[in-house]
Amino acid sequence: MNVIIFGPPGAGKGTQSKFISKKFNLFQLSTGDFLRKEISKKTELGNKISSTISSGSLVSDDIVSDLIEKIISNNKFCNRIIFDGYPRSLKQAKNLDYLLKKYKQKIDIVFKLSVSLETIKKRIAERLSIEKRDDDSNEVAIKRYETYEKSTEPIMEYYKKMNLLKVIDGERSIDQINKEISDLMAVIEG
Ligand code: AMP
Repeated sequence: MNVIIFGPPGAGKGTQSKFISKKFNLFQLSTGDFLRKEISKKTELGNKISSTISSGSLVSDDIVSDLIEKIISNNKFCNRIIFDGYPRSLKQAKNLDYLLKKYKQKIDIVFKLSVSLETIKKRIAERLSIEKRDDDSNEVAIKRYETYEKSTEPIMEYYKKMNLLKVIDGERSIDQINKEISDLMAVIEG
């Protein structure tokens, strides 16, 4: 099965994706992790995108599209991908549909972790003292939240119309969220 997980920065997308990728043997395709790796390795691509990432804006569609096509086209990952951080705009959502069709796959379920800006700010402050990420300052966190609301929220209607969207209350504990997500996935897996 292919899954998308949405949520504003700090909503717990990464944590939940890791959990379900293990439990259901899926490949976690985190565009953010991939891009951060390029930056830390100081590759040509990494140098090109580093200022965009630290400002909290989105990198170009072409860069992320190439990355996800590499994974979708790989037989090893066929119908076992969790998209964590992609798509992030309606344009990316349509591109994802195009690519999935091209490689004869589809999305089975879409989760949206719903969390308020207030909770996000608290979580980012906690994360700052554990693992410092370049884009983790309060100011950038707010910018990332705004980017999410402006570019990513409009995609929800798209998946809702396709009857794929499950809205998850992301204010609860990691375990409670885990349970709801895995129960819903277990139903699909049958
Ligand atoms: P994340 O770890 O998913 O929060 O992503 C961190 C940063 O990587 C984002 O703030 C963007 O700058 C960039 N990024 C990740 N995924 C995408 C995407 N699908 N499209 C454009 N930029 C992205």
